[in-house]
Amino acid sequence: MRTKKHLLMAGFAALLLTACSTVPVTGRSQLLMVSEQQELRMGLTSFKEILEKEKLSTDPVINERVQRIGRRIAAATGRSDYQWEFRVIDNDKTVNAFCLPGGKVAVYTGLLPLTPDDASLAAVIAHEVAHAIARHGGERLSQEMVVAGLTAATVMATSDSSRRDLYAGLLGAGAAVGFLLPYSRLHEAEADRMGLIYMAKAGYDPRAALALWQRMAAQSKGKAKPPEFLSTHPADETRIKEIERWLPEALSHYHPGAH
Ligand SMILES: [Zn+2]
Repeated sequence: MRTKKHLLMAGFAALLLTACSTVPVTGRSQLLMVSEQQELRMGLTSFKEILEKEKLSTDPVINERVQRIGRRIAAATGRSDYQWEFRVIDNDKTVNAFCLPGGKVAVYTGLLPLTPDDASLAAVIAHEVAHAIARHGGERLSQEMVVAGLTAATVMATSDSSRRDLYAGLLGAGAAVGFLLPYSRLHEAEADRMGLIYMAKAGYDPRAALALWQRMAAQSKGKAKPPEFLSTHPADETRIKEIERWLPEALSHYHPGAH
């Protein structure tokens, strides 16, 4: 029993040591215990499930706009290996957008009144795409696995089988849905900074992102229930100040007329 526990702990420690990765653009080190392949599979499954449940917009004007902006952001990330896909979900009540691992992007029609100009819609798409490129979903899942793994190691020392299904559960359908949960403040800040650069490289003025967040902040004031995008992305003073601070870096990548 003792040996088994020690072996498990040693294996776990080795896994942690080899599971470090670096986020593009910001260069931050992150713990990733899920392979990109696993993440892509989960993203693909979730995307299919969501699209099957939702009504897709057939409006050619809206679809063309989301596709055009999305493709430019995608090109700016340099991830030509992703299977990029941009869909519009016909739901005026949902103010939201997301990007799943592998470049599976969806925009709800409810977001469009808040993003009347292309640059502000580009800001939202670039932010969501940045979460996927930085593998924030996989990182959050890895953090959960560390906590669960340590718990499992302790539990195994006393009762053998009680946590057998733990990893299977974490890597299953539940984890895929987890990509849509709110991210931490750190992940939000990182996606903001990367998103500004991606939109600028795609030829959209990054100052539009600042204007968008200021509009969101004004909109969320005095509302009991903020829209989905704002409940997972609080438009607070810290966020707006940080975006102001990162703008010069993003503007150095902005060359209008090159697109
Ligand atoms: Zn976000």
